Amino acid sequence: MHFPTVKENQTNIIHIIKKHYSSECGYTFTIFNFSSKTDTKKIIFRSLDEVTCKRCQEIFKEIHLRD
Ligand SMILES: [Zn+2]
Repeated sequence: MHFPTVKENQTNIIHIIKKHYSSECGYTFTIFNFSSKTDTKKIIFRSLDEVTCKRCQEIFKEIHLRD
């Protein structure tokens, strides 16, 4: 199973996208900003194992893998 993720420029940390402007952990970014290419993040579908933000992983598991 793969999820939409975004990589943080400065740290290279990979976050899971929750909404179109923020990650599960609250990291915010701009995807749909076509006026500035530097602000535009690329959405890449990855498996949960590839997500390097621990906070995003924890929150995602709590929300989606709870049974
Ligand atoms: Zn995160």
